[in-house]
Amino acid sequence: MEEKEFETRAIRMQTPRSENLEHSTPLYLTSSFVFEDAEDMRASFAEEKERNIYSRYANPNTSELIQKICAMEGADAGFAFASGMAAVYSTFAALLESGDHIVSCASVFGSTLSLYTQFFPKWQISTDLFHVNASASEIESLIKPQTKVIYVESPTNPGVDVLDLQMVGDLAKKHGLILIVDNCFASPYLQQPIAFGAHLVVHSATKLIDGQGRVLGGVTVGRRDLIDKIYRFSRISGPAMSPFNAWVLSKSLETLAVRVDRHCDNALALATYLEAHPKVIMVKYPFLKSHPRYSIAKKQMKAGGAVVAFEIKGGLEIGKAFFNNIQMLSLSANLGDSRSIVTHPASTTHAKLSPQEREHAGISEGLIRVSVGLENPKDIIADVAQAIDKATQ
Ligand SMILES: *Cc1c(COP(=O)(O)O)cnc(C)c1O
Repeated sequence: MEEKEFETRAIRMQTPRSENLEHSTPLYLTSSFVFEDAEDMRASFAEEKERNIYSRYANPNTSELIQKICAMEGADAGFAFASGMAAVYSTFAALLESGDHIVSCASVFGSTLSLYTQFFPKWQISTDLFHVNASASEIESLIKPQTKVIYVESPTNPGVDVLDLQMVGDLAKKHGLILIVDNCFASPYLQQPIAFGAHLVVHSATKLIDGQGRVLGGVTVGRRDLIDKIYRFSRISGPAMSPFNAWVLSKSLETLAVRVDRHCDNALALATYLEAHPKVIMVKYPFLKSHPRYSIAKKQMKAGGAVVAFEIKGGLEIGKAFFNNIQMLSLSANLGDSRSIVTHPASTTHAKLSPQEREHAGISEGLIRVSVGLENPKDIIADVAQAIDKATQ
């Protein structure tokens, strides 16, 4: 399977068939696995053989999902978690010691920022943040002897800024740091951060990987020695993904490429429409030529992703009126769903940040985030258009 193309592997890599010769991988809804005899049991627990013992450690469904994502990302190994945040937290917890320091982009998922500020300080783990548009030397100035990790996302949530992955990859290499990239917004189909120097890639599988807003999930994949530490921590602390969710998510990967292609076509259509709209003062989408990092986006991504950020002339009040006039799109917290979703980060997901922290994270008060779904683009654009018209009347 290794030599096959992305879509083929996403569909054809699967758990070996059982004696029933099923076509589609069955759901292994079992918490534990049985042993032949006392010696088999002893050797299995001693890890002298690779086999399933207990679903907190591994299960055929989670293993299949991990194997597919490793193939997509060019990773050696991985672990599947109950949610994206379980992946983020467990990855940090497995790798960091008291006294360690993190250098992170300020534009990271809201809950990741909260880990830095609300929880890591109690274990003497400190964080310094850089602006998404910081230069290599500005980022370098934050690196200390205690720094262990650089952590970034690209494109960022919710500002849809783009970070130069090769630039941070080179910095991590130069300073011997572990580079972790949250690749959720791009999905493994659009961008493979390991090719630019990432050592670990984290996903919230809840988003584009599921693609239909059904289950939560997370994965971390990357270098074998690092995954081994994450596995040791997770096997004991218990953040494992359920076999059911892994089964759903592995099936979802079969359609990832076609879905994400269509998300990107629809998102580019909406972004192009908004850019020409006289009442819209700002649109950000990685594959619009007007994006400040358009050439970097083109270099590191296959297409622009599902998310468009924009702002209507008149700021916060007009933004609220826009939400109240939306008819079809969902007002919901998810993204990467087949249904288009609109959110207002400043009053919802990022409301707990101070105005200065929001500005540092690239979130203006009037910013609107659209996760563009798979409805017909004419209907998506029509709903956004009528809501802008009513809000600005
Ligand atoms: C949603 C999200 C997460 C967290 O994932 P959950 O599955 O909700 O725990 C992490 N990073 C990014 C970029 C996300 O969008």
